[in-house]
Amino acid sequence: MDRALHPTLDKVISILEYKQFIVDNGHVTDRLASPARCPVCKHDMRLRGGQTQDNEHFYHVDHNSYCPTKAKNALPYLILFPTHPDPAIVRANKEFLKNHLEHIYTRILKIAPCLAFKEEFIEILKEASRLNIYAYANLKPEYLPYVLVTLINFLPSRSYQKKRIYKFIFMYDGGIENFDQLWIHDGFNANLYRYSYNNTTPITASPIETNIDYLSAPYIKLSPKQIDWCNKII
Ligand SMILES: [Zn+2]
Repeated sequence: MDRALHPTLDKVISILEYKQFIVDNGHVTDRLASPARCPVCKHDMRLRGGQTQDNEHFYHVDHNSYCPTKAKNALPYLILFPTHPDPAIVRANKEFLKNHLEHIYTRILKIAPCLAFKEEFIEILKEASRLNIYAYANLKPEYLPYVLVTLINFLPSRSYQKKRIYKFIFMYDGGIENFDQLWIHDGFNANLYRYSYNNTTPITASPIETNIDYLSAPYIKLSPKQIDWCNKII
């Protein structure tokens, strides 16, 4: 990984920025400085590699600690089903998705570049129905793009014209295990990251802004046929 969480601040930093932190704190080696942290599991990360080739990277110091970013073939991990679905809530969330479909599609395309409509967007909607994510009582539908992107892994082979280079997996920090935990105390409660993988090796982590400005931003039009297709699955 070429990025990690700052040792004390809630901010993702590069290898160079971490080295600057070491120097700024009066250390000559990273062994004595506070470790950087994994953005998702928050465990310690340090640097290794880079002496003889250009392969320096952050790694988890404790390789036995559980972290979703380390799973070899990480699958979307928010898979706990809602227990007492309320039909009225399900209907309202689905209506919101249908009424803002193009805005939500555009937002997902923005944060998951090279999104393929059929192979990925439709698959996401199928997963959302299968897992019935619309039944989460606390779900604020404005945040649906940030829930939907966690439902599939974005593979290069499934991407638009196979143009995506790395696999993307979207993950939340803070041990989030189901969507209800995203809305504790009524605020959106966790940080979302897009991890890029070269096969099974995480290359970089990008923080994703979970704002709802997309609802008033320009959007990409879908064809009536595409909209129909989506509505049948939702
Ligand atoms: Zn981790």
